[in-house]
Amino acid sequence: MICIKNSMGIDAINAVNAVSFEADKSNNNNTEYHKNFLKWLEYFQKNDLVGCCAQTDMKGERLKRPAQQTDPDMYLHVVEKRSDGIVVRGCKVHISEASIADEIIVVPTRALGPDEKDYAVSFAVPADYDGVKQVVSIHNFRKREHITKGGDYGYTDSYLIFDDVFVPWDRVFLCGENEHGGICALLFALFHRHSYSGCKPGIGDTLVGLAALAAEYNGIPKAAHVKEMLKEIIMVSELGYAAGYTGSDLGKPEVYIPGMGNVPYGPGSFIPNSIYCNVGRCLTGEAVFHEQEILCNIAGGFPSTFPYEKDLVDPELKPLLDKYLNRNPNVPVEDQIKFWMTFSDFTCSGTSGVINYGNYHGGGSPIMEQIAITSQYDIKLRKSLVKSLAGIEPLKAGMLRKP
Ligand SMILES: Cc1cc2nc3c(=O)[nH]c(=O)nc-3n(C[C@H](O)[C@H](O)[C@H](O)COP(=O)(O)OP(=O)(O)OC[C@H]3O[C@@H](n4cnc5c(N)ncnc54)[C@H](O)[C@@H]3O)c2cc1C
Repeated sequence: MICIKNSMGIDAINAVNAVSFEADKSNNNNTEYHKNFLKWLEYFQKNDLVGCCAQTDMKGERLKRPAQQTDPDMYLHVVEKRSDGIVVRGCKVHISEASIADEIIVVPTRALGPDEKDYAVSFAVPADYDGVKQVVSIHNFRKREHITKGGDYGYTDSYLIFDDVFVPWDRVFLCGENEHGGICALLFALFHRHSYSGCKPGIGDTLVGLAALAAEYNGIPKAAHVKEMLKEIIMVSELGYAAGYTGSDLGKPEVYIPGMGNVPYGPGSFIPNSIYCNVGRCLTGEAVFHEQEILCNIAGGFPSTFPYEKDLVDPELKPLLDKYLNRNPNVPVEDQIKFWMTFSDFTCSGTSGVINYGNYHGGGSPIMEQIAITSQYDIKLRKSLVKSLAGIEPLKAGMLRKP
C-alpha cells in the first residue's frame, strides 16, 4: 500500500520532465516550462514531499472528444490566461492518496487535437490549495480492537474539483501545446504501467501466500487443483515482473509517436520500453478478477461469512467458535482465526473490492494497453518472417528481432 503514495507522483514527474523540455524546444525556448519544472522539483525533493498524479478527467460523454463535450468542463482546461498565471476548471477523478499528498501534479488524460489546446495543460499545486475541493473516499480494512494484526492498512482516493483555480506561471509546465499534451498523457501512463510491474508482483506475493495458507489451513495443499491454481497466480505475477524488468533494461530516452515510430524525446532521461510495460500491465491487470476467483475457490465460503471480532472474543461464544472454526489440528486455532480475518480483508471486504478496481483500471483500462501494444508492435516484421518461411519473399537483410 505504501508504493501508491509515491509512484503516481514520481511517474508524473518523469513524464513532465521530458514533456516540458520538448515543449520549450518546439517553442524555440520562448517558454520556460522546463525551468519552472526543475525549480519546482528542487523544492519538492529538498522538502522530501509526497506527490499524487491527477490525470483521469471526469470525461463526461465517453464517445466525444474534450472539445465536443456538451459540458466543456468534463476535461480540465484553461479558462483564462493572465499575465501572472492561468485559471483552470475541471474535475479529476479517482486520484489516489491526494488527501495525504503534499503536491498534486496535473497532466492531461488523452491525445488532443489543435482545437483542444486549452486542455493541454500541466502544473503542480499544493494539495490543500485555494479553490481545489477534495471529495475523499476512505478505504480502510475493518477496524479491530481485540485480535491483533501485523499492520493497519488503508488508503484514500479523491475527486479533485478545480473550481476556477489560479495557478501562477512558475508552477505551469505545459499550456497549449496539444501534441505534447497527448505525449504527456501517454508518458505518464507508460511510466505508471512500468511501476505496476513492480507493484503487481508485490501484490502477487500476498495473493500466493493467501492461497497457499488457505490450502494448508483447509488441509488441501496437495490437491491437484490447488497446485494448478497456485501455479497460475505465480506465473502471472512473475511474468509481470519479467516484463517490467525487460522494460527497464531496454529503456531509452525515446518515445513512440504515431506515424514516426520511436524518436528521441526529452532531456536524455530514461523512458522504459513501451511494449514490455504494456504487455506486462495488460497481462497482470486482466488477471485480477481471475486471481480473486482462485482465492475464492481454495478458501470455500469461510471468509465471506466469518464471525465479527466481537463474537470471536465474546466469553460465551468464544469456546464454541474456537471449537467449530478449527479446521486444522496442526495449527493453533487463534492463528487460523487471524488468518481468515486477514483473508476476508483482502478478498471480500469493501476495501478489497476497491483495490481490485484499482489494479484493473489503474494506469489505464486493458483496452488502452491493447491500443498501445497493437499500434506500436512491429507486426510488419512478423509478417515478413512468415512470408519468408512460406517462400513468398525472402527476409530482407538486417531484419532483427525487435520488441
Ligand atoms: C482505485 C482506482 C485508483 C485510481 N487512481 C488514479 C490516480 O491516482 N490518478 C489518476 O489520474 N487516475 C487514477 N485512476 C483512474 C484510472 O486510470 C481510470 O479508472 C482508467 O483510466 C479508466 O478510466 P475510467 O474510470 O474513466 O473508465 P472509462 O474510460 O469510462 O471506461 C469504462 C469503459 O468504457 C470504455 N470506453 C471509454 N471510452 C471509450 C471510447 N471512447 N470508446 C469505446 N469505449 C470506451 C472502456 O474501454 C471501458 O470498457 C484510478 C482508478 C481506480 C479504479
